Amino acid sequence: MTRKTFTLPDLPYGYDELAPVMSEEQLRIHHDKHHAVYVKTANEIIEKFDKARDDNSELDYKGQLKALSFNIGGHVLHSLFWKNMAPVANGGGKISGEIEKKLIEDFGSWENFKKQFTAVALGVEGSGWAALVYYPEIDRLMCAIIEKHNQFLTAEMKPLLVMDMFEHTYYIDYKNEKAKFVEAFFGIINWQEVNERFLQSQA
Ligand code: MN
Repeated sequence: MTRKTFTLPDLPYGYDELAPVMSEEQLRIHHDKHHAVYVKTANEIIEKFDKARDDNSELDYKGQLKALSFNIGGHVLHSLFWKNMAPVANGGGKISGEIEKKLIEDFGSWENFKKQFTAVALGVEGSGWAALVYYPEIDRLMCAIIEKHNQFLTAEMKPLLVMDMFEHTYYIDYKNEKAKFVEAFFGIINWQEVNERFLQSQA
């Protein structure tokens, strides 16, 4: 029996289409190297579980599960990240729909949301993600931090928009000027995709 494995998704746009916010060089390394490694490592760990099952060999389950969580978390978040960006020519940066209404309702105004999301993104210590999440039980959007790829996540949190704050996301283009990257990122958010995820999360 051939089992399914995690696979690296193609980008939904050309490598040069997010420039100048994200350069082709930056995006190629990020997608083809970094994301690819999370996929490869997750698959290797799963193989170790298969092997331990098949030959009854010892396995450090706790350590391996921790590594698996990090690598699958990386895979899932990056897959979402690629989809929640769009070239300006295809509507990147333009907000509309239910998500716009809900953002204004929950944050008071677009400016307040932008201010809070920026503060949260700049508050990520070391490697992590800024996210806009939805909590169905209380019908609320909130900004969140996901440390590394898998810490501070809660089971009911529905990530709608994720922003990679690992240095490998922006270092070629912005060096240490993280705030400039965060500001520019708003220009390529695929709000149509965020809106669809919001509508699905409510169901
Ligand atoms: Mn990354």
